[in-house]
Amino acid sequence: MPASRPKFAVDEMLGTLARWLRIMGYDAVYERDRTDDEIIAGANAEGRILLTRDKELAARMGEMGSYIASDQLEEQLRQVWRVFSLRPDQDLARCTVCNGELEQLPEDDAKDKVPEGVFLLNHQFFKCRSCGKVYWRGSHWVNIKKRLADLAPDQSL
Ligand SMILES: [Zn+2]
Repeated sequence: MPASRPKFAVDEMLGTLARWLRIMGYDAVYERDRTDDEIIAGANAEGRILLTRDKELAARMGEMGSYIASDQLEEQLRQVWRVFSLRPDQDLARCTVCNGELEQLPEDDAKDKVPEGVFLLNHQFFKCRSCGKVYWRGSHWVNIKKRLADLAPDQSL
C-alpha cells in the first residue's frame, strides 16, 4: 500500500462512513466511547486524519482534521472523496467490521467457512487477520461497487 494513501479516524457519529472507507480499502478506525482528548491523541500518534461531525474537534486537529458537514452518507462520501482524492481501487483490503487487514484464504480452507452455494460460485476468498470474518465478491459486492460508481461517475472502479 503506498504511503500516500491516507489513514482515517472517524468519530462516533460517522460509523457508516467508516465502513464505506474500509470497503474502499482505507484504514479507518471508528472512535467509540472516547473523550475528545483521547481521540486527538490517538489520531496524532498514528498519523490519522480525523473525520468528525464536531466542528470544534475538527479545528483542534488543524490540518489533520476534517469537519463533515452532512449527516447523509452519500454527501459525506462525496466530501471525503473530493477533499482527499480517494481512490477506491483496493477492494477487499480491509475488514468492514473491525478494520483488520484481509488476506487471501485458500479455496480449500474457505470450503467449510462459507455457505455451499457461495463456495460453488466463487473462487477467491479473503479472511480478516483480526476477527476471522470471511469475504468474497458476491452479489452484495457488485451492488456496493455500483453504488460507489454512481457516487463518483468520473472515477473508473
Ligand atoms: Zn475483522
